[in-house]
Amino acid sequence: MSHITVCARFRPLSSKERRDHGDSVSVQSLDSETFIFKDEKEEDFTFSFDRVFYQGSEQVDVYEFLALPIVRDAVNAINGTIITYGQTGAGKTYSMEGPSILECDQQKKGLLPRVVDGLFQCIKSSDEATKYTIKLSMVEIYMEKVRDLFDLLKDNIQIKESKVHGILLSGVTEVSILDSTEALHSLSRGIANRAVGETQMNMASSRSHCVYIFTVQQEFPKDKRIRTGKLILVDLAGSEKVEKTGAEGKLLDEAKTINKSLSALGNVINALTCSPQGRANHIPYRDSKLTRILQDALGGNSRTALLCCCSPSPSNASESLSTLRFGARAK
Ligand code: ADP
Ligand code: MG
Repeated sequence: MSHITVCARFRPLSSKERRDHGDSVSVQSLDSETFIFKDEKEEDFTFSFDRVFYQGSEQVDVYEFLALPIVRDAVNAINGTIITYGQTGAGKTYSMEGPSILECDQQKKGLLPRVVDGLFQCIKSSDEATKYTIKLSMVEIYMEKVRDLFDLLKDNIQIKESKVHGILLSGVTEVSILDSTEALHSLSRGIANRAVGETQMNMASSRSHCVYIFTVQQEFPKDKRIRTGKLILVDLAGSEKVEKTGAEGKLLDEAKTINKSLSALGNVINALTCSPQGRANHIPYRDSKLTRILQDALGGNSRTALLCCCSPSPSNASESLSTLRFGARAK
C-alpha cells in the first residue's frame, strides 16, 4: 500500500468574498488535522487530513510538512510528486509559486523556490565526493497535448517508457541548473512562456496542468555508478464544474478533458492507496497524459503529497466540498 500525504489548505477570504458574505467562513477548525465544513445547506461534514493549513497559514509550514521529506528523498534517488488541487482561485498557484516566482519576500515564497533551495541545501550537506546534477523540464498539458514550456515549438511531446530510465518525455528541453538563482530564472522563463502560449491559443492558465520536473542525478566517484531521483510538482487545472447549460464548443471540450484527467488522477491515487500490500493490482496510469507522466513518481516506493486548496467562503462551499472529498478519497 502506498502512502499519500493529503493536506487541505484554506486561503484567506478575498475582498469579493468579504463584500458578499462578510467575515463568515464555512470551515471550523477542531485541531491541526480535523475540521468541520458547512455546505450550502448548513449541513456539517467532518474531515480529517494529515494536516490542515487554515486561513492564516504560512508558506514555510506548508513546505516543511508537505515538501521537505520529498525533497530529501529526491536527493537520495527516490521519486516524488507534489500536487495542488482545487477550483480556480483557491490558492494552487500561490502555494506553488508564491505571489510571483521571483518573489523576494522570504515569508511569501511558495513551494517551488523553497524546493529549489532545499535541493541545493541537501546536496551541500551530503557526501562531498558524490557529484550531483540537477535538471529542470517544464511542460503544460492542455487538451491532452503536452507542450514544452522551454520551447513552444515543441507542442506535442510524446511520452515514452524505457526499462532503464522509466517514463521519458521524448525530446523535452532539460535545463541544467547550477544554483537557486539560475533555477528561479529558468522557472520564471517557463512561466512567462506559458502565458505567451495561452495568448496564442486564447486559453486561460486555469484550463491546463502545469508540470515541473526536477531530475536529480548522483554520480558516485568510486564506481561511477549513477542514481537518479525525480521530483515532480503539478499545478493542476481548476477542478470547478463548468455549467453544462452555459458552456458550449471549446469551453465544454476543455471542461470535459480536464474532468477526465482529474478523475483519472483520482482513480490512480485510489488504486494505489487501496491496493492490498504486495498485490500488484491494475493501476490505470494510461487513462490520461497527466497520470502517464506521473507514473514512476506516483506509487511504487515514491512519495506523494496532495494539497487540496480551498476557499473558506460560504460562496464557494460546494466547490470546496468537492475538493475536500477528492482529498478524503485519496487517503
Ligand atoms: P489558483 O491558482 O488556485 O487559481 P491562486 O493561487 O491564483 O489560485 O489564488 C487566487 C488569489 O488568492 C490570488 O490573488 C492569490 O494571491 C490569493 N491567495 C491564494 N492563496 C493565498 C494565501 N495563502 N495567502 C494570501 N493570498 C492567497
Ligand atoms: Mg493558478
